[in-house]
Amino acid sequence: SAKAQGRGNAVFFEPSMGQEMAERVLLAERLRMALGYGGLQLHYQPQVDVKTARVVGVEALLRWSDPVLGNVSPGRFIPVAEASGQIVALGNYVLDAACRQIAAWFQAGTPLRVAVNLSAHQLRQVNLVEQVRSCLQQHEVPPQWLELEVTESQAMIDPDQGRQVLADLAALGVTIALDDFGTGHSSLAYLQYLPLQRVKLGREFLLPSPSRDRLVEGIVHMVHALDLDVVAEGVEQPDQLQLLRDVDCECFQGWLHSRAMSADQIQAWLVAA
Ligand code: C2E
Ligand code: MG
Ligand code: MG
Ligand code: MG
Repeated sequence: SAKAQGRGNAVFFEPSMGQEMAERVLLAERLRMALGYGGLQLHYQPQVDVKTARVVGVEALLRWSDPVLGNVSPGRFIPVAEASGQIVALGNYVLDAACRQIAAWFQAGTPLRVAVNLSAHQLRQVNLVEQVRSCLQQHEVPPQWLELEVTESQAMIDPDQGRQVLADLAALGVTIALDDFGTGHSSLAYLQYLPLQRVKLGREFLLPSPSRDRLVEGIVHMVHALDLDVVAEGVEQPDQLQLLRDVDCECFQGWLHSRAMSADQIQAWLVAA
């Protein structure tokens, strides 16, 4: 570093930092165009009832295919969208696309609940509740078919504001799920502080460890004691599903059942099922 080289407090600019920043600028620029050229698409991952193996809903996951950059994962572009202020436009696009799809499945006679991920910025967007309400209304979607996923850290940036927004959203009739539970800086107290219907258990809990079974059992029982349902994320192995069965977890998502698919693939598959 600059200091180690004895040049006092000169600001040192790492080449890797420059590269990282250049990449972010490029991503932000391409992302701005993607909304226009139709490069963004929602895919849907089934949420499966542990007991009956029936698909009870899907989670909408954003996919971006860019002619210059190729496929870019949400893990890369969501943070860029948040930093560049594009997340609100992107979030509105996602809400609209999800509600349109709910209506389409409804009309096709294969209704499905769709869960949409919200970002921290959207929770602080002043008109979010109005946005959700008008989206439901415009597509004539009964609110119970829309679920909104938030993480603890997002909801608790400003706890009172976060709780109020979620309560206003819940009052519309949509359900709220707490995403990635137990994987961030979380406090168990939030489980009773926020107006939730479902808790999504982070996939880290299902990774092999000597105490895995007891830990998962304890958490699922605790969540049940609060009258909330559990959705386990990232289920890849049959023994993980067996554990979920043993502890009465309601629902799971994961590659063991299926990856996220296009709306058409989901539709074809629902009709065949
Ligand atoms: P998330 O909401 O926790 O979504 C679950 C992630 O786990 C998805 O990654 C999904 O493809 C992946 N996954 C599902 N099953 C398995 C499995 O069995 N094993 C493993 N290893 N992974 C599995 P994805 O699609 O790359 O999304 C990553 C994150 O990006 C999401 O985490 C969510 O936080 C964010 N994201 C995705 N779409 C949106 C969106 O429309 N809006 C916002 N604000 N964030 C989004
Ligand atoms: Mg999610
Ligand atoms: Mg998650
Ligand atoms: Mg997440």
